[in-house]
Amino acid sequence: MRKGTRMTQLADITPHRSVPPTTTTVTVAHGDGIGPEIMDATLRVLAAAEAPLAYETIDIGERAYLAGHTSGITPEAWDTIRRNPAFLKGPITTPLGGGYKSLNVTIRKALNLYANVRPSKSYAPFVASSHPGMNLVVIRENEEDLYAGIEHQQTAEVAQVLKLVTRPGSERIVRYAFEYARAYGRSKVTCMTKDNIMKITDGLFHRVFEEVAAEYPDIEAEHQIIDIGAARLAAQPEQFDVIVTLNLYGDILSDIASQVAGSVGLAGSSNIGDHVSMFEAVHGSAPDIAGKDVANPSGLLWAATQMLVHLGHAETAETIKNAWLATLESGIHTADIYREGLSARRVGTRSFTEAVIERLGTRPHRLTPVSYRSGGITIAPSQDQPALKRLMGTDVFLDWAEPGRSPDALGQGLEATLPTGWELRMITNRGVKVYPNGLPETFRTDHWRCRFVRADGGATDFGEVLTLLGALHRGGFAVIKTEHLYELEGKPAFSLGQGE
Ligand code: NAD
Repeated sequence: MRKGTRMTQLADITPHRSVPPTTTTVTVAHGDGIGPEIMDATLRVLAAAEAPLAYETIDIGERAYLAGHTSGITPEAWDTIRRNPAFLKGPITTPLGGGYKSLNVTIRKALNLYANVRPSKSYAPFVASSHPGMNLVVIRENEEDLYAGIEHQQTAEVAQVLKLVTRPGSERIVRYAFEYARAYGRSKVTCMTKDNIMKITDGLFHRVFEEVAAEYPDIEAEHQIIDIGAARLAAQPEQFDVIVTLNLYGDILSDIASQVAGSVGLAGSSNIGDHVSMFEAVHGSAPDIAGKDVANPSGLLWAATQMLVHLGHAETAETIKNAWLATLESGIHTADIYREGLSARRVGTRSFTEAVIERLGTRPHRLTPVSYRSGGITIAPSQDQPALKRLMGTDVFLDWAEPGRSPDALGQGLEATLPTGWELRMITNRGVKVYPNGLPETFRTDHWRCRFVRADGGATDFGEVLTLLGALHRGGFAVIKTEHLYELEGKPAFSLGQGE
């Protein structure tokens, strides 16, 4: 066994049962703050429910950070995580200052965890909530979009980030959302994008959604523009069932949903990948209540049931979830959800755990019992056939801050520099057309996008683009970057400038 890992067989926790042959080994990290208490609680419930799991335990988080691992994880722990199909992770504390990197982001990116799944549900009348009928899940694309982390400052005044949306990435997450709806007995998937503005990137995600939705006639499909969708989510969350969306929107929507449900401390979240998937509570390490036997273990317990369904142990997940619902219903509540009049008994972490264990095999009477389809969801990434692609011109970005910043002066200067066969179609500043025929009111930075096409309207090639760039360089223009203008399958694959 490797250094830094500890193997705990199920038999160590429950002596009443031998390990069945279908046992799945999962990685466990207790984490920091309340992590060890809620992880012990979760493992005890899993053991009592005879979950067919064995555990390899790793140390990550604060201790690893302070030992000099800036990502909060040791190389040995990586090996363990990579060899098991699931990782049940306690919350960790990221030390403040000192350039420590978020372990969650590192794990998500390194392990290709493409789907983030975050259910938000109200347990009214047993847990106070202003939206008693709310029961939705946000499925968020987890790797692409603005989170690709490709950022540049290109001039004194202008910084940019690249928003990457891919067809395989979009198809995979959308398909995951529909498969999830089927597995968890949900009836509607809502896609949210801003494709009225970002027609190419968000437009691709929306198009893929329509294509995939057609393959799932049993599930209702709808699209909402993200701004009105987010407003409705905050005001009428009961309208939603499964929401699928891009990375940044999903980040914001899942926080809105948790907050509105009033049950942040009760929610679990999954990060799904091909080889490894990670399951954790939504909340953090709560250092203010650590070691006091008051933390609510429900978020991590819920994450563990998601893990069981993912690994194909749906029956055990159902048993645990129904026992947990029955516990909530009987009014046995930890301090965070205890309300005078609503709750019957205020208990600590350990007593709550005992209460769940005592109810294993029972079902709730007033809250709806859960029922899961057996078998995890795996979606292979698709690959597109190469498209017929023609180069029709190029957008050249310039750093230009001559006094007055006159678009006409820049346009005329460029036109005087152009090699034969090229034409300056337009100049934009922050996406707004300023040449030819711009408005004097338009604000102008030092960052100019100049669109060049062939004068005969035909296709070009990279050699001709290099000739153009050479001429601009010799003419004294500071080229920052280029974006090629392609036609794919005969259709323009670039946006027009505002006012073009
Ligand atoms: P937090 O979620 O830890 O705590 C916020 C509040 O909720 C606190 O008052 C806390 O006592 C309470 N709370 C949280 N979980 C609870 C539970 N299970 N039962 C009862 N009460 C609970 O958020 P924070 O205080 O902003 O962050 C503390 C630390 O956790 C930070 O170091 C942060 O970086 C880290 N964090 C980690 C994760 C993760 O590992 N996934 C997520 C969020 C925050």
